[in-house]
Amino acid sequence: MSRFWSDLAHTLQPYVPGEQPRIPGLVKLNTNESPLGPSPRALEAIRAEAAETLRLYPDPESTALRQTLAAYHGVAPEQVFVGNGSDEVLAHAFAALLKHDAPLLFPDITYSFYPVYCRLFGIAFETVPLDGAMRIRIEDYRRPAGAIILANPNAPTGVALSRAQIETLLEDHPDQPVVIDEAYVDFGAETAIPLVNTHPNLLVVQTLSKSRALAGLRVGYAIGDVGLIDALNRVKNSFNSYPLGRAAQAGAVASIKDETYFQAGRAAIIAGRARLNAGLAVLGFEILPSAANFVFARAPGRDGARLAAELRAQAVLVRRFSTPRIADFLRITVGTDAQTDRLLTALASILAETPAS
Ligand SMILES: *Cc1c(COP(=O)(O)O)cnc(C)c1O
Repeated sequence: MSRFWSDLAHTLQPYVPGEQPRIPGLVKLNTNESPLGPSPRALEAIRAEAAETLRLYPDPESTALRQTLAAYHGVAPEQVFVGNGSDEVLAHAFAALLKHDAPLLFPDITYSFYPVYCRLFGIAFETVPLDGAMRIRIEDYRRPAGAIILANPNAPTGVALSRAQIETLLEDHPDQPVVIDEAYVDFGAETAIPLVNTHPNLLVVQTLSKSRALAGLRVGYAIGDVGLIDALNRVKNSFNSYPLGRAAQAGAVASIKDETYFQAGRAAIIAGRARLNAGLAVLGFEILPSAANFVFARAPGRDGARLAAELRAQAVLVRRFSTPRIADFLRITVGTDAQTDRLLTALASILAETPAS
């Protein structure tokens, strides 16, 4: 704290990302990174950008990348917005689309960046409780709203809504912007992108960080009606004209074009998730049905903080949130089979050593 801070700097409550420690032999299952690595074609394209041309600014419109994404998703390039990670895309969406007189609605348990953006941009919000099975109930959103944002699959639960349920939500709120954050959609949920042409209030946000194993490159994007995309561009061009460097644009294009690698990676993670679920079930965990590259689970009668700390002592890192309703849950990223085995072995020894309360 300092007398040089603005009032805004004083009021912020910044997002706390999962830790990135340097522990030898660490099994890192806490930030939903991919254990597989990016497409070799993406790496090749990124290396090719390490050239004399780096003295020049990149294309401020990321034209080639937007065209590639448009062709991939069957929309027009004007319906695509790209940013420095989907976190930046979301930030621009909060500023451009989600601030209205009535409160922004999102679930009580969801991506914890949403309330952080609300404070940054001065957006009033109201949280809507998940039901007893930790599901989003679309009916519960039938109340005064300035806008709505949902993660689908939701984070950190991994539970997904169907496209039909998203369509019902859109039909319930034709006059409010609705943002669907699909960071994990490729691991088993239905994307809402086919609805953008019939619903001018829908913005779908995706990322290359998770299913394309490019968290370090920082590329995310949004797809929606041209009217919504225009608003995002107005904010972007009032903030940073060049959010994506040359390497990021080229690597992202090559990644999207490598469909074979993408499908193989997706299938491997989905298979790894089934394996992780089976191992946790044997240990007596209660597991939410996940459509993401992580599972959210708790061991009945066990303190979540203690379990996470005991795992950490065995160099296995998982994510835990102190929010009361989910304090005993662990969010565990699907790793390689070897990493999953390390986790399951560590959990088995911890559970065997200390009796449940
Ligand atoms: C990981 C994640 C993001 C952000 O990912 P970027 O790396 O910034 O693209 C956005 N939303 C949710 C729900 C996430 O889990």
